[in-house]
Amino acid sequence: MIVWNHFPQGEHRTQCPICQRRDKSLGVSVFSHESAVAHCFRCGYVETRRPQRELTPAEREAYKRRMDAMRQQHDAEQRERQAAAASIATIRWAAAKPVQTHPYLERKAVMAHGLRLEGDMLLIPLRDSAGTLMSLQTIAADGTKRFVPGGRTRGCYHPIGRPAGRLVVAEGYATAATIHEDTGQAVAVAFNAGNLLPVAQALRGKYPGMELVIAADDDWQTDGNPGLTAARKAAQEVGALLAVPDFAGLDRGLKDSDFNDLRRLAQKEAAV
Ligand SMILES: [Zn+2]
Repeated sequence: MIVWNHFPQGEHRTQCPICQRRDKSLGVSVFSHESAVAHCFRCGYVETRRPQRELTPAEREAYKRRMDAMRQQHDAEQRERQAAAASIATIRWAAAKPVQTHPYLERKAVMAHGLRLEGDMLLIPLRDSAGTLMSLQTIAADGTKRFVPGGRTRGCYHPIGRPAGRLVVAEGYATAATIHEDTGQAVAVAFNAGNLLPVAQALRGKYPGMELVIAADDDWQTDGNPGLTAARKAAQEVGALLAVPDFAGLDRGLKDSDFNDLRRLAQKEAAV
C-alpha cells in the first residue's frame, strides 16, 4: 500500500493509506533503499519493506527496535492528545446548559438523560469506567454527530439509569434511551459498533456479577451487517445476552435497524 520510493532515508509523517486520517498518523522509518517500516497510531496499520534475502540477526533486531520505539512514541502522542481533548471536553461540559428540548430528541421521541446543551447542539458525555469525563459527542439539530477531535472513545460510554442486576449496552443514544424508557433497565451508550466490545469489557470489569445484555443494531441493508456482527462478538466475548430488534409483522423501511426504529414502527402500527 505504501509507495516506499516516495520517502528518502530518514523519519517521515504522512497520511495513513488505510484510515486516511488527516492528521498524518502514519510514521515511516526508512533505513535504506531496501528496508523500511511504517506504523499508523490511529488504526494500527503496519507495513514493512524488507530485502528479498534472509535478514541478518542484527537487521532483524534493528527492525524490532524501531517498531517498538515507534509504537511507544505513538502511544505517548495519543495519550497527550486524549488528555488535551479531555480538558476541552471538561470545560465545554461545565459551561453547557440544561436541556429543555431539542429537535433530535423530538424526532427520536426520547427524553434527555444526563445530556446538556451547547448552543443548539446536544452534548453527550463519554466517561471511562471510573467515571472520568474523556470526551463529548455533539448532536446537531439535523442529527449530525461528532466527537471532540483527538478524544478517547474506546471503552468509554454514557450510562443511563442505575444498574440493578442487569445492564444493557447499546450503540447510539436514541436506542439506549428508548430501551431505558421502555424497560427501566440501566443502559450504557457505546456510541458505535466498534466500541461495543471495549465497553462491554469495561463494564464486565466494573460489575463482575452483573448480567450484561448487548442490544444490537440490525444493519440488515449493509454488507456484513456491522451492527449485528459486532454485537454478537461482544456478547460472546464477555458472556452477555444478545437482544436483536424483531421487525416481524411491521412495515419495515430500509433504514429501520435499531430499537428506536422498532418502537416508532410499533407505535404507528398500534395507532392505526
Ligand atoms: Zn491508519
